[in-house]
Amino acid sequence: MQDVIVIGGGIVGLATAYQIKTKSPDTKITILEKEDRVAKHQTGNNSGVIHSGLYYKPGSLKATNCIKGYNMLLDFCQKEEIPYDLCGKIVVATDESETAYLDILKGRGEQNGLTGLISLDSKEALQEYEPHVNGVKGIYVPQTGIIDYTAVCEKLRDKLLEQDVDIVFNSKVLSIKDSQDSRMVEASSGSYEGKIVVNCAGLYSDKVAHMSPTKPDLKIVPFRGEYYELKEDSKHLVKNLIYPVPDPNFPFLGVHFTRMINGGVEAGPNAVLAFAREGYKKSVINVPELLETLTWPGFQKVAAKYWKTGFGEMYRSFSKAAFVKALQKLMPEIQESDLKTGGAGIRAQACGRDGVLFDDFQIYEDEHFVNVCNAPSPAATSSLAIGDTVSEKIINKL
Ligand SMILES: Cc1cc2nc3c(=O)[nH]c(=O)nc-3n(C[C@H](O)[C@H](O)[C@H](O)COP(=O)(O)OP(=O)(O)OC[C@H]3O[C@@H](n4cnc5c(N)ncnc54)[C@H](O)[C@@H]3O)c2cc1C
Repeated sequence: MQDVIVIGGGIVGLATAYQIKTKSPDTKITILEKEDRVAKHQTGNNSGVIHSGLYYKPGSLKATNCIKGYNMLLDFCQKEEIPYDLCGKIVVATDESETAYLDILKGRGEQNGLTGLISLDSKEALQEYEPHVNGVKGIYVPQTGIIDYTAVCEKLRDKLLEQDVDIVFNSKVLSIKDSQDSRMVEASSGSYEGKIVVNCAGLYSDKVAHMSPTKPDLKIVPFRGEYYELKEDSKHLVKNLIYPVPDPNFPFLGVHFTRMINGGVEAGPNAVLAFAREGYKKSVINVPELLETLTWPGFQKVAAKYWKTGFGEMYRSFSKAAFVKALQKLMPEIQESDLKTGGAGIRAQACGRDGVLFDDFQIYEDEHFVNVCNAPSPAATSSLAIGDTVSEKIINKL
């Protein structure tokens, strides 16, 4: 029998196993991952940004884990020689109406412990950092960086294999039998018996949580984020990272420009309802999953309140011209011809029955289970800190 069974080989599951092994090397761990490799879903399709902790409510799990995770991630990458670049970013208010929230963000950043934030009080000041940007005010955040999170996961995988952790790919968890002595996890590859089960299943974390005694009253709503890439000749328009002031009503940061660690530059991601939890293309529809989303009372409340924004995002998803128009707020000279279609990622956004889109990380536990049911951005940045917290809970249960 294993001590711990981790479900999900994304960055949160791998970081959790890594932290358990660091604290308690003799713990026997199996990781079950339904795909044939690590990081195939959220982790491998994200923006590749190392977030600094600017946006998050002081005291929230996001704020504390982002700063702690940021430092742990950089230490890990230095030790394991994984490339990253702390290139800094600017957040840009494109008109006066956005400046009040920009000031709130700066205050939050400082409360969260960020130092060296610089207020940029004119278009000229913004253009010293990003010559092609347009705006009235902004903040320069020196701590923000870029990285390849798949490379981080591959290193975590290798470290875990060296420490005799079993990582079983092509292993979809179908059910869990909970008895007094053990948990029997039935997966597509066989049965696995463990003392403690940790659910880090991302887009299916609600489904897996419902296989445990704790049945959180939430549903994962999949929001696809689509990217364009700047063509080779247009990459000079972006030096590093350019973000808008986010809409405080939504848990997403808004379409931004991101220089990637591999040398590309992305524009995106938007946020459209995906018609399948792993529907990376608009054409992919999973009818039962879509019906489940549409009939969830929480989603219906969100849709009733924000249908206009939702349709706007949908329109921009189908119309490149509309997407470019949104980008032109930040960079007037950008044209459709500067962009080619890029990839997409899908956010696992937990939505409560009452219509709340959970902003903070949500972790539910009982005697033998830990369910990580909402680990949205910046959970890749924070992964080693989330893993640290979850590993403490597990070690206490063993
Ligand atoms: C578009 C986008 C941009 C983002 N940008 C950033 C960013 O720049 N910086 C940042 O810090 N964060 C960012 N994030 C957030 C970050 O990527 C996620 O928070 C993080 O990757 C979550 O990791 P995870 O391990 O929880 O989920 P995942 O990476 O989705 O991993 C979950 C794993 O569980 C597996 N699984 C699911 N069900 C089962 C089952 N039944 N049995 C076995 N295995 C199962 C899946 O196959 C998957 O591999 C972004 C996210 C998206 C979608």
